[in-house]
Amino acid sequence: MTETKEIRGLKALAKRYARANRIAQHQALDLIAGELGFPHWTKLIAASKNGWQIDTEQMAGVEAFFKRALPATTFRNGDPEAMNRRFAYLEQAEHGMIGDHAYRLQEVFHDVIIAGEGWSIRVPENPGVPPIVETFADQEAECPVFDPEFLQTALSLARDRALQVRAGIATDWPRRSTKPDLSGVVRHPLSGSESDVWFCLHCDEKITGTQIALNLWHCPGCGASPLDIFDTPFWSDDDGKSFRPVKTDGAVDRDEPDFRIVDDRPKPNLNEEKIILLIRCALLDDATNISERLGALRAEISVDDDGVWIALEDDLWPEGKDPVQALAVADRLGLEVELESCWSTIPFAWPGLGEIASNTSEYTQMMLDAYAQCGGSPDPKPKES
Ligand SMILES: [Zn+2]
Repeated sequence: MTETKEIRGLKALAKRYARANRIAQHQALDLIAGELGFPHWTKLIAASKNGWQIDTEQMAGVEAFFKRALPATTFRNGDPEAMNRRFAYLEQAEHGMIGDHAYRLQEVFHDVIIAGEGWSIRVPENPGVPPIVETFADQEAECPVFDPEFLQTALSLARDRALQVRAGIATDWPRRSTKPDLSGVVRHPLSGSESDVWFCLHCDEKITGTQIALNLWHCPGCGASPLDIFDTPFWSDDDGKSFRPVKTDGAVDRDEPDFRIVDDRPKPNLNEEKIILLIRCALLDDATNISERLGALRAEISVDDDGVWIALEDDLWPEGKDPVQALAVADRLGLEVELESCWSTIPFAWPGLGEIASNTSEYTQMMLDAYAQCGGSPDPKPKES
């Protein structure tokens, strides 16, 4: 079945969007699918094979939605559903100014985020976790969050909103979830079970009813969400006897935010594969004829903690010829070089032909002619090896 024009259009949109926002294309496809009411792209394709069609209005809507430029830093690692919801939240974001700096204030999954050019502050839903201030390494110097007055204003805006968000959560939950009874029994807001002691699946700690209620059902020890909090430690071998009571200094907003510098500048990330590629490329610089170029392409190169090891085919690389460029590249990368000659089966006989041919096409003809003269077939068709 061929792809419809509409599906092709959606794919093109996803590609552009993925590029603009530096997310993977499959994430962008899933986002589009989400906008059209599918859990992910594969489901959309399956539906389209079964006759589902996007109508013009939907298409226009999706296009309008995805053509808007959105900051992507917080989207990069999100799962599609989370990202979809974030889009919805972004739509509802408030905008304002602190001094000369524009900000956007929004709620994302019960966290509150206030963000501007090069900075963001997240006040997590979990009242036990301090606000997280993020700045970008390349803009560190001029970032307004380093001005204490600015930071306080931004923090209080986010905190006020966080209070509203938490109040909203508590209102949605049963009263017993946020207010323990006289014996400290509380009700899990999601499962509905009741107990005066709770267990965190995440960190294996024991939590009292009062502690967990105060912390809006996030583990005071590790911050795990209400989904990881249970009234029985069903995963424990000893019914939770070994679980230690969680230590908490009272779950209230801590004043000191946690500063993090996000460094999203591109890095060379020089792994073995990339080093080998550079060294081989330099060997090609060093090659002065076809034979040596074949030698460069077939050189064995490996990289370890001690440096680079290069083995050049004796028949394809003149003995005693230093690969000057390759050595220079290794030097720039701070790597020691060990050079060796090796002997193996070379791809074509008469390597000397490669030393006199002026280009690969000429070499190919000379090599085929030589084989023909020996009675070998000059059949140029690729052979199954
Ligand atoms: Zn925990």
